[in-house]
Amino acid sequence: MATSPFYPPQRILMGPGPSDVSPRVLQAMARPTLGHLDPLFVEMMDEVKGLLQYAFQTQNELTMPISAPGSAGMEACFANLVEPGDKVIVCQNGVFGGRMKENVERFGGTAIMVMDDWGKPVDPEKVEAALKAHPDTKILAFVHAETSTGVRSDAKLLTELAHQYGCLVIVDAVTSLTGSELRVDAWGIDAIYSGTQKCMSCVPGLSPVSFGSRAVDVIKTRKTKIQSWFLDMSLIMGYWGGGTKRAYHHTAPVNTLYALHEALVMVQAEGLENAWARHQHHHQALKAGLEAMGIRFVVEEAARLPQLNLITVPEGVDEAAVRARLLNEYSIEIGAGLGALAGKVWRIGLMGHACNTKNVLICLGALDAVLS
Ligand code: PLP
Repeated sequence: MATSPFYPPQRILMGPGPSDVSPRVLQAMARPTLGHLDPLFVEMMDEVKGLLQYAFQTQNELTMPISAPGSAGMEACFANLVEPGDKVIVCQNGVFGGRMKENVERFGGTAIMVMDDWGKPVDPEKVEAALKAHPDTKILAFVHAETSTGVRSDAKLLTELAHQYGCLVIVDAVTSLTGSELRVDAWGIDAIYSGTQKCMSCVPGLSPVSFGSRAVDVIKTRKTKIQSWFLDMSLIMGYWGGGTKRAYHHTAPVNTLYALHEALVMVQAEGLENAWARHQHHHQALKAGLEAMGIRFVVEEAARLPQLNLITVPEGVDEAAVRARLLNEYSIEIGAGLGALAGKVWRIGLMGHACNTKNVLICLGALDAVLS
């Protein structure tokens, strides 16, 4: 049995997430725990909702963090919107579209898959063909920022297409929220979920979600009971809904919510557009350095995520050994490739608090030292 406290080393987290957490956020977590119905805590919850509306660029009333990681936000969207027998078109161009399919099927729906190669964005033409071929489709689901490949798909265009064919959209914004342009109301996104551990400089463990009015109508007029008690949004809103009448639903992760509040205050102070620009700026610097070292990017420039850089492992290099040396000698974590890309690529994250000039320089210097 361990008898001493655990003191983790100070890493530089430049993988696919979690990313470095701001010290301000860590300090906020260490503040005294309040009761989850304490009036002061409830006031802070209202602020979190308002700040999340800003981060998502939405006025949606049903905007709040689910008390669990990004996967729970994903599950909340599918659990609330999919009923047995529903048809859902799921776009897959990496790992996370595959999880959406699992969700659709587990909630009794039929998933129509639109497949694109890993490293490519979702192809709107294929999506339109699927929408035409399946006019009874209820939902189009896709990943805005595919963390497994560093690819951004055109969320605005895909949402427009879905609406033309009378469908709702569910969007995965785990890696895009506060790192890339994302405008829930202007783009008309119906349901969206994210995670706190990527571009928000926050700790892992919460999943911000937002549901627009069409999605709320669908939830209200369901014929069947939502198959998850914990993720039933109508029950969750008894606790997260505005006003003074809040009822116990589950014990909120009080200190983790302090962390999210602090992270969102920082996003607001920086300004969302400045945060998007910062991710782009440091990506450009990293790109220039990597290309000078002869390292190539996998994803076409227009679809590249600044916060997740997918690069090829140079010929003859043992990719796992390089990652191990970066971790052990420089305390830098970068990510490996997944699926078909395993062994062939690295994923370098520039997310949130970790997205800064110093990290770009340290990462380039360390990689150059390890490769030479
Ligand atoms: N969706 C995407 C695009 C992700 O990158 C992740 C996690 O990396 C998830 C969903 C799942 O989030 P979590 O690991 O917080 O459950």
